[in-house]
Amino acid sequence: RFITVEGLEGAGKTTALAGIRAWIEARGAPVRQTREPGGTPLGEAIRELLLGHRQEGMSARAETLLVFAARAEHLEQVIRPALAAGEWVLCDRFTDATYAYQGGGRGLGSEAVRVLEDWTQGTLRPHLTLFLDVPVATGRARAAGRSEPDRFEIEREAFFERARAAYLERCTAEPARMRRIDASAEPEVVQRHIEAVLSEVFGN
Ligand code: C5P
Ligand code: MG
Repeated sequence: RFITVEGLEGAGKTTALAGIRAWIEARGAPVRQTREPGGTPLGEAIRELLLGHRQEGMSARAETLLVFAARAEHLEQVIRPALAAGEWVLCDRFTDATYAYQGGGRGLGSEAVRVLEDWTQGTLRPHLTLFLDVPVATGRARAAGRSEPDRFEIEREAFFERARAAYLERCTAEPARMRRIDASAEPEVVQRHIEAVLSEVFGN
């Protein structure tokens, strides 16, 4: 089973991932937790490139191809082998983030992302994607106290509004796979909502 977690910065992905992991482990299943961009030595090097070149700017196409290069490696080295071994793969961001940030935020549109998705992944898609939805201002306020660099440092409000709109559009287009979670609620409320979705999709 392949589960991905998405959201703008400050949505609460890290907390949610810990809760999801605990839910899976409580059922005695092996979990492989990983992240994008990253998840492999090459992927982590690409992540450094992506984060490091932000201030001077990187073309949207180069950014998109780097994200997919990291993903190709991640799929081959980690995700496909883990799924084949019967592990649950729990991934912090995946291709929906590319639809949101590069397709929406950077304005490349969804069609370009779709072509690369098909080419890179074949028919592999997450079984379940949890989109932790917060208003942009809420995410910004929550991310403000963090030490890690985030996109709020370089992008305007409109970038995140486009990214959020792209995420919401994907929830509407694929309601069975991609579930919107209201992540502006209290952490315990968010966790209960997530567990209800997990139980509904995977059983108890
Ligand atoms: O998930 P995390 O917050 O660690 O992501 C690191 C950074 O990479 C974030 O600032 C996020 O906005 C950015 N990112 C991106 N495009 C993607 C995936 C992540 O700009 N496709
Ligand atoms: Mg994070």
